[in-house]
Amino acid sequence: LSVEAAVGLENSDGPTNPADSGVKVIVRMRPPNKVEEDGGSVVQRLSNDSLSIAGQTFTFDSVADIESTQIDIFQLIGAPLVENCLAGFNSSVFAYGQTGSGKTYTIWGTSNTSLEEHDQQGLTPRVCQRLFERINEEQVKHADEQLVYMCRCSFLEIYNEQITDLLDPNQKNLQIREDVKSGVYVENLTEECVSSMEDVSQLLIKGLSNRRTGSTSVNAESSRSHSVFTCVVESRSKRMADGGVSCLKMSRINFVDLAGSERQKQTSAAGDRLKEAGNINRSLSQLGNLINILAEVSQTGKQRHIPYRDSKLTFLLQESLGGNAKLAMICAVSPAQSCKSETLSTLRFAQRAKAIKNKAVVNEEIQDDVNVLRQVIRQLRDELHRMK
Ligand code: ADP
Ligand code: MG
Repeated sequence: LSVEAAVGLENSDGPTNPADSGVKVIVRMRPPNKVEEDGGSVVQRLSNDSLSIAGQTFTFDSVADIESTQIDIFQLIGAPLVENCLAGFNSSVFAYGQTGSGKTYTIWGTSNTSLEEHDQQGLTPRVCQRLFERINEEQVKHADEQLVYMCRCSFLEIYNEQITDLLDPNQKNLQIREDVKSGVYVENLTEECVSSMEDVSQLLIKGLSNRRTGSTSVNAESSRSHSVFTCVVESRSKRMADGGVSCLKMSRINFVDLAGSERQKQTSAAGDRLKEAGNINRSLSQLGNLINILAEVSQTGKQRHIPYRDSKLTFLLQESLGGNAKLAMICAVSPAQSCKSETLSTLRFAQRAKAIKNKAVVNEEIQDDVNVLRQVIRQLRDELHRMK
């Protein structure tokens, strides 16, 4: 079996079909570590997209085996993400799984903050690299349209239901706001303009080194926080033929490294740690709840109240959950016998996520006179609203 076949590489160039707005779910199994090496694997990969565990078979969009490389994961998830972003779609990638299953490795790369080792580079730096390459290509290809791109990034952490700015850790307990003009956003969060891969690398290294880590008995380096790196891409084109009408596309990509999904009773959490655990679980269990509700809404077509605001994570990423965004879920699992029950619970979560249908649309605004006036009206209305 070739590596391509082994990880189920599909034709991943070009934006995915807009009508195909289901959640893309891939399962990635990490290699056994030293302690697990002799135990064999409890997960058997059956094909490109299916696996079995404890006599049960699961099917996803792709199943990436222990031989899958960071490049394979990029091809599977990252390359289509870049094309979707340039086409004007919002996207989010979540890494879900128990502590030690490979979430951080998949999203950022090696767990230390150095992004130097190229083949260990995770999805986020690879996507940004490709994004800049493709922006250059687009500018050359459509030289007559005079395309101008602007990219800006932010990096935050949700820990104990509090948001910290990873690019400026003095900014703690930031608040999520929502208004008509900007949608959902984090007030006072640092946004850095980036124009090269070096700029992005610096932000990633800075942000990753500012993350909190706490140790529990499950894994000494366990990350007990959710971290979210966001890249916003704006493009304008001056179409001279249209009498100077400038067209604006804006899209964002969120990379989300979730806290470990393991049940807390397996760790000896006490006191502050337990309180922390409760709050970490609030965001994660709300994510689980929402996924159940959204899967049900997608299947039955019945309207239901969706409690996005019940946790920081779901409030912040509401657009990605059943809204205007393409969503990819990477579910990380360990092959070890000792992780079997957590692996099963991760796979069940993954299966429910598969049932969600998002409604992604291209975020495009033609800046003609009518639209400019509409925008002015919206702003005035907002101001009036605030004065009341
Ligand atoms: P998590 O973020 O889910 O807690 P990590 O990403 O930190 O887990 O992974 C745990 C350990 O396993 C790390 O040392 C990491 O480098 C290693 N690891 C995870 N996935 C892979 C993989 N696919 N290939 C090689 N090593 C991996
Ligand atoms: Mg981690």
